[in-house]
Amino acid sequence: MRACFCLWRGLICLSLTLLMACSVDDKNPLARPHLPLKGEYLYRHQNEQLFHIDPPVLAEHAAYPWDENQDRNYPRMTKEFFRCKGSILNPVRLVQKEKEVLRFYDCGGTQKHSLPLREGKEFVYPILIDLLNYIQNKTGKRVVITCGHCCPDHNLYLDASPSNQTSKHLIAAEVDFYVQGMEHQPEKIVNLLLGYYREMPKYKGLKDFEEFKRYEKEDAHVSTLPWHNKEIFIKLFRKTEGRDFDNRHPYPYVSVQVRYDWDLQEKVIYSWDKAFRNFHRW
Ligand SMILES: [Zn+2]
Repeated sequence: MRACFCLWRGLICLSLTLLMACSVDDKNPLARPHLPLKGEYLYRHQNEQLFHIDPPVLAEHAAYPWDENQDRNYPRMTKEFFRCKGSILNPVRLVQKEKEVLRFYDCGGTQKHSLPLREGKEFVYPILIDLLNYIQNKTGKRVVITCGHCCPDHNLYLDASPSNQTSKHLIAAEVDFYVQGMEHQPEKIVNLLLGYYREMPKYKGLKDFEEFKRYEKEDAHVSTLPWHNKEIFIKLFRKTEGRDFDNRHPYPYVSVQVRYDWDLQEKVIYSWDKAFRNFHRW
C-alpha cells in the first residue's frame, strides 16, 4: 500500500515538473522566437522544377539557292574571301614624283588587320556575297575575287592617286572578280548580275532595282559603258584596263560597287570612320 502511494506521488511530481518546464521555456529569452508567417511555405524538393524545359533542338536553316547545287567543286562565297590581299612580302613600290621618289609599302595583310567593322563585327556588304554566290550557282563555276576589301595601306600601295583614296574597296562595298572557266566571257557574267534583280522575289515590282541604266560619263575610265540600278554599279574592265597590283592577271574582270544599303535604307558613301576603324594586331 505504501509502495503504491509512492508510485502515485512520483507520477504527480513528474507531471508538475514537465508543466513547470514548459512554462519556464516560454519565458526563456534564449528560446527560438515564433516569427509571424509572411510567405508561403515551399513544399518543393531539390530535384523538382517549376517549369518543364525541353532539351534544345538544333533548327535546320532553310536552304539557300546555292546550297541546292551539291555537286559543286568550289566553296560557297563568304566574307572570308573578301579579305585584304596585301602582304609584307610585296616589294616596296617606288613612284617618281617630280624631283623626289615616293616609296610605298604594302600592309601586313590579314595577319595584321581585320575587315571593316559594323557594330563591332567584321562586315562586308551582304549584297556582294549574295551576287557572287548567285553567279557560282548559275554557272556551276568558281568565282575568283581579285580584290575585295582593301585596307588604307594596301589601297595606297595599289594606287596613290587622290581619287582612289575614297575607293569603296576601303569600306568593303566593292569587289573585283572573274569566273574560272569563263574568263573571256565577262558579258555573260554582267547579264547574270542584271538577271539577279529580275529573278529575286524581294525586288519584284521595284523599278529602281529591276531596271539598269548605262553610265555615260567619261570619268568611269573604261571602254564599256557601266551599268547601274539603285543598289549596284557594274564596271567591265577589258584585258588592258584597270590593271593594278591585285589585278595583274591577264583576264577581263567585273567590278561591282554597292550604291545603296538595303538594310539601313541609305546611300553607301565612303567615310573615314568606315574605312579606318578595324582591328589591328601589332
Ligand atoms: Zn591590308
